Amino acid sequence: MNYEEALNHPIFKVISKSASELDLESYTIGGFVRDYFLNRESAKDIDIVAIGDGIELAKQVANNLPNKPKVQVFKTYGTAMLRYEDIEVEFVGARKESYTEDSRNPAVENGTLQDDQNRRDFTINALALNLSEDNFGDLLDPFNGIKDLENKIIKTPLNPDITYSDDPLRMLRAIRFASQLNFKIEEKSLKAIASNADRIKIITNERVVTELNKILESDKPSKGFLLLEKTGLLKYILPELTALKGIDEIEGQRHKDNFYHTLEVVDNISENTNDLWLRWAALLHDIGKAPTKKFSKKVGWTFHGHEFEGSKMVYRLFKRLKMPLNDKMKFVQKIVLMSSRPIILAQDIVTDSAVRRLVFDAGDYVDDLMTLCEADITTKNSKKYKKYHNNFKIVREKIIEVEERDHIRNFQPPITGEEIMETFNLQPSKEIGIIKEAIKEAILEGEIPNEYEAAHKLMLEKGEQLGLKAIN
Ligand code: ATP
Ligand code: MG
Repeated sequence: MNYEEALNHPIFKVISKSASELDLESYTIGGFVRDYFLNRESAKDIDIVAIGDGIELAKQVANNLPNKPKVQVFKTYGTAMLRYEDIEVEFVGARKESYTEDSRNPAVENGTLQDDQNRRDFTINALALNLSEDNFGDLLDPFNGIKDLENKIIKTPLNPDITYSDDPLRMLRAIRFASQLNFKIEEKSLKAIASNADRIKIITNERVVTELNKILESDKPSKGFLLLEKTGLLKYILPELTALKGIDEIEGQRHKDNFYHTLEVVDNISENTNDLWLRWAALLHDIGKAPTKKFSKKVGWTFHGHEFEGSKMVYRLFKRLKMPLNDKMKFVQKIVLMSSRPIILAQDIVTDSAVRRLVFDAGDYVDDLMTLCEADITTKNSKKYKKYHNNFKIVREKIIEVEERDHIRNFQPPITGEEIMETFNLQPSKEIGIIKEAIKEAILEGEIPNEYEAAHKLMLEKGEQLGLKAIN
């Protein structure tokens, strides 16, 4: 079959011409070809295999391109990369690989296209299109990848046990593709993943996180996390989550399974946000529940302080996985820390002052926090479900109302410490703090508006109560 129309990007003609100048064959293979057949918005990376020297071909291509882009050579991998317009093109010579026990980096030797297709992770990733001038666009599909695309199957070209053991990263990739593309992993593959799960330990954290992020970015991330759990991979990667599994029962009292609850929350939030970090926050919002779980006869199961414990665990988890310890991490921490706050609001009558306090404490994160809390409603009782959602709707409206009136979000006290000092002719002292706190409290409680005049008047009153004298 010929699929020349897949290759309408001008870069392919340039590669084709360059290859024939060097008297080599070249093919585009992997993700680009797969995504073409899936009708997915084509990724911005294109992989090229040369039967011969891939680095040489990259240099020739660069030379034939109008802007003569720089070629980045990765000698140890025998690959080269160049950027053209908004795409990244990676070149490699066709190779045959053999693996050793302790590394996912194989010994390589030159090979044929077939050798190169054999070393690919999945049949759907082994599809190649010929770039030779004579056979431009011919499909090479030795493992029936097209059929697996149609049937939505993830399957390895060779023996899955060997494929996953050779490079355990492929286990995560299988699950990531299943989640991302909504495919099924072939039974034999699934078994092989389960029996090789502990080999995931040789994969670097950075690689693991890349795949986790892609799972979290899928339409329904639970699909990936359930597979991670089922195959036994999850306990090596995110033991904080597997610790949430299970339901305990003492004296007839049960708590919910917080693992499955968490996955529901992640799926829910993914319908309302594409923000990767908010999705992380949803994934981690209950991790403090495992270490804080207690049972008492009086109140049954409790998870006191799980939000605080959880936010500390977020830091340790990010650190262990070598994720960025920056404002993204702080965002996740803060959302986890505050994750129960709006829930209390939703159960009761919503007062203005409770909303003001929420906005004051959450600051700019208040909308994201609300999005999480709405996703957190997983009750199967439709009456409660409606009531909570409705209350959150009221909270959202009040947030806007309170914000327009009181500007609490990035609260700056209307009276500064300096003004208090000048007014009462004070040196730095605890009275200043007391007055400032009283003003803040009065604003949050709604006793006075967040305005200078009212705050000034309250300052004078408070000062008087404290026995201070205003000068002039
Ligand atoms: P995406 O770019 O959407 O993440 P992809 O399949 O293109 O998906 P890349 O990492 O860009 O993934 O890899 C390009 C191709 O290289 C794959 O399609 C596959 O053929 C091959 N490949 C990548 N990683 C592996 C691996 N660990 N083992 C075997 N083949 C791999
Ligand atoms: Mg790719």
